[in-house]
Amino acid sequence: MAVKCFHSFALHLLLATIVIGVVNSEYIEYNTAPRIVTEKINVHLVPHSHDDVGWLKTVDQYYVGANNSIRGACVENVIESVIASLLDDQNRKFIYVEMAFFQRWWRQQSNAKKVKVKKLVDSGQLEFINGGMCMHDEATPHYIDMIDQTTLGHQFIKSEFGQVPRVGWQIDPFGHSAAQAYLLGAELGFDSLFFARIDYQDRAKRLREKTLEVIWQGSKSLGSSSQVKTIFTGIFPRHYDPPDGFTFEINDVSPPIQDDPSLFDYNVQERVNDFVAAALAQVNVTRTNHIMWLMGTDFRYQYAYSWYRQMDKFIHYVNKDGRLNVLYSTPSIYTDAKYAANESWPLKTDDFFPYADKPNAYWTGYFTSRPAFKRYVRDLSGYYLAARQLEFLRGRSSSGPTTDMLADALAIAQHHDAVSGTQRQHVAADYALRLSMGYLQAEKLVASSLSFLSASKSSPDKKNPDTKFQQCPLLNISYCPASEARLSSGKSLVVVVYNSLGWKREEVVRVPVSTLHSPWLISEALTLSLVSSENVIVKDASGKEVVSQILPLSDITLRIRKEYVKAYLGRSPKDTAKHVLAFIASVPPLGFSSYVISDTGRTGRGLSASYVTSGSLNQDVEVSQGNLKLLYSEEGVKMSRYLSTKNQVTAEQTYAYYIGSNGTDKDPQASGAYVFRPDGSRPIKSEGQAQAQLTVVRGPLFDEVHQEFNSWISQITRVYKGKDHAEIEFTVGPIPADDGNSKEVITKLTTTMKTNGTFYTDSNGRDFIKRVRDFRTDWDLQVYQPVAGNYYPINLGIYMQDKTSELSVLVDRAVGGSSLEDGQIELMLHRRMLHDDIRGVGEILNETVCLPDGCKGLTIRGKFYIQIDKPGDGARWRRTFGQEIYSPLLLAFTEQEGDHWINSHKTTFSALEPSYSLPNNVALLTLQELENGEVLLRLAHLFEVGEDSEYSVMTKVELKKLFNNKKISKVKETSLTGNQEKAEMEKRRLIWKVEGSAGEEVKRGEAVDEEELVVELAPMEIRTFLIRFDDHNEMVGEERATT
Ligand SMILES: [Zn+2]
Repeated sequence: MAVKCFHSFALHLLLATIVIGVVNSEYIEYNTAPRIVTEKINVHLVPHSHDDVGWLKTVDQYYVGANNSIRGACVENVIESVIASLLDDQNRKFIYVEMAFFQRWWRQQSNAKKVKVKKLVDSGQLEFINGGMCMHDEATPHYIDMIDQTTLGHQFIKSEFGQVPRVGWQIDPFGHSAAQAYLLGAELGFDSLFFARIDYQDRAKRLREKTLEVIWQGSKSLGSSSQVKTIFTGIFPRHYDPPDGFTFEINDVSPPIQDDPSLFDYNVQERVNDFVAAALAQVNVTRTNHIMWLMGTDFRYQYAYSWYRQMDKFIHYVNKDGRLNVLYSTPSIYTDAKYAANESWPLKTDDFFPYADKPNAYWTGYFTSRPAFKRYVRDLSGYYLAARQLEFLRGRSSSGPTTDMLADALAIAQHHDAVSGTQRQHVAADYALRLSMGYLQAEKLVASSLSFLSASKSSPDKKNPDTKFQQCPLLNISYCPASEARLSSGKSLVVVVYNSLGWKREEVVRVPVSTLHSPWLISEALTLSLVSSENVIVKDASGKEVVSQILPLSDITLRIRKEYVKAYLGRSPKDTAKHVLAFIASVPPLGFSSYVISDTGRTGRGLSASYVTSGSLNQDVEVSQGNLKLLYSEEGVKMSRYLSTKNQVTAEQTYAYYIGSNGTDKDPQASGAYVFRPDGSRPIKSEGQAQAQLTVVRGPLFDEVHQEFNSWISQITRVYKGKDHAEIEFTVGPIPADDGNSKEVITKLTTTMKTNGTFYTDSNGRDFIKRVRDFRTDWDLQVYQPVAGNYYPINLGIYMQDKTSELSVLVDRAVGGSSLEDGQIELMLHRRMLHDDIRGVGEILNETVCLPDGCKGLTIRGKFYIQIDKPGDGARWRRTFGQEIYSPLLLAFTEQEGDHWINSHKTTFSALEPSYSLPNNVALLTLQELENGEVLLRLAHLFEVGEDSEYSVMTKVELKKLFNNKKISKVKETSLTGNQEKAEMEKRRLIWKVEGSAGEEVKRGEAVDEEELVVELAPMEIRTFLIRFDDHNEMVGEERATT
């Protein structure tokens, strides 16, 4: 090495002597004028910076450049320096993607600066692409969250710049979903979609066959390739950075072009040759004579001149060389060039999951990573939907609390290092803090809206209603001060139950209560007891008593309630609440009902009792409901359903865990935050005791069984009267780590169904996609990881079917799952990892909760739901019940003396015309009043083509009946994010040519007639409207809030 350097040094000296003698340095004018030369290879240089909205640092730290010891990254620098470089030379271009950052920067600029930047945007020098607040993950967000976060960014771009983004730019997410292609792509009016990460085997084949660029049809329900719900999709040949040797951040090692003839290392021709060679390599794997170079990567352009200086020179010298044509470009310009080439492209269907970058590196662990955060995001997503409705129903307030803060927090929580669970711990805490602050704002808004809506017309001061409602976000651990407070004499508890769905619901509501008088134990003989309460009853608003049931909280619930309230709220909960009161609530669509829990003062006239048995399991315990039967054992529960006298299906549910690979074998790949690499599995058996501890509760509304398998896994199974599914509430953790092993806990359902390797998982809660074990549609799969390589993301559910039956499982948050054997389904519920998987986060995923006496592994609680149906009957349950899981009934509490509140308030309400409800196949995704007074309405058909014999059909929503007592003055149909009129969007849409045959045409809803105001929805169709109401007609026929 030393010898070589000496030679090189000597040579330079020699050359320098010659050169210095001949030439002087002088100004060189670089010709970077944009042009496409059709007969040449065109290299589109796309300057970009990938700015994660939180990952190793928090969103604030990335923005201002704090905590730079973790990583020298400052987004403010990026935006500032790029804009200076663009202003310097009008040929330069840049794309910006993450509106969470750009919006912050924009708000701090002077008007003079804003004018200049607007010119850059108008001229196309600065182009917003993708345009959501963040670049959302595609495996773990719910589609409603994806729509919401993109809408927020698109509305900002529209209102400040009058622009409509044309291109989807999901360059970093770890796999790509079908919903992204058709919903967050085509339905936004995007002309193309680009990304980097697909399976390494898939990429190898596409490189060979020049099929990295395709037309992607994400939904089979939304029409053929010749119709519009497809999108031109470009997969990068390698990653989202430039070819080797062409990165120019100030610390990068690529050789710069040295074109001053007086320099010792003058290298123009050498660098031009490098450039041409790298471009030709890419031409070999790309169709048409247009290729794109991604000039940038994570947090680049902090000193933008360093990049532009080099690109100016490359464009100048390579064009002068003449073998290629190089230009400053954007993905939009590139897309137009591809379109103009008039080529036919291969068709891609389904999705790009799972993603593996190496044989033992399937990125399927993050489907479950940080399960508590995933649940928190999903809970608040449903809450945000309801809160926006209530904000609209009350009238958006300019001074009071709004949903805006929750909207922002939820938006960045969809980032591909947020809800994915792949961020550092302090960043996860930052996202959670933002969500909780957003929640508190929204909670106030919900309380004041309910107060407004429940104030009666005759109330003296309708504008300032007096009811103070309390809510209970910690109901999942049975903590609710409002419902637990002991009722003083003469007072009773009022529960207002709000339903954000467009159809009526009858559901069991559960609230923890202090037992007003001691539970009434009829018999303590052995293990049977009867829990009752002497004189408490639940009545509906008309004074009619409703069926109710009181039952004990499980021991495990009492423990985590005590620990987690202390850990997160810093206070010890009262230990008086040892019972849950359950009752049936019947709630109208988009409305509420009120219930009163009171003391009758009369003994022997109380709540319905629960019969409770508990102790070691010494005989088979059975719980049943209709044709559903649950039989308990030490390892789990056997669930049977008779579908006919001859056809009985039995599913056995158990727990197990994988040991995560520690990466010390031949391949250093460990299981970690992203990657799932199991090293064998272990079943969970009851520990320490010969028999599992069981508590069986039977009552008039439901039966439930508490099972404790060991000190860190327990569950409650419930079967409800009149329902065909079983509900399982699991509590997993702290996962023991003292043996030094990473553990990934799963639950399994095992049946004898003959499923032939096939199962179905949803795409972001939308279409179900067929999965075949150890198989990929697009290439011959080489199987190295038979478990991890068959895992898929689940947001709504997973199901399997054979000739005689269908078994579906629905989930309450994003999880990973699979069917690894015929007739079997598994879900990964929790992970505690003790090794890093070397994908950048650099921290082990070992979540803990800290109490005064120390920290221990995080406990996770959640639910999944199981139903067995005849083949073809399951969709109805998955779709409608799935909607109820996403939008649980919202509870608000207040107290009354005597019957005062009930008598002086509006106790039931529906925004819809009486007797109208949305059809069972339609969901109201968004009802939101925007700042400008327009109302954003989104309606979704919930079923796919062919999914259900009755519901997979064109359906209708009557807008006049949806908005009772309110006159619609204008309805405008728009793109999915409301940033352009739909008709305009369709007119501009590029229609690409596809190889092979076009599929069938599918009928979609017709344009809405302005008189009739009826919206048609075809299967899987989502339609978005901006509505103006006639101000003289008020929503609830009453005066509007003026706060
Ligand atoms: Zn990223």
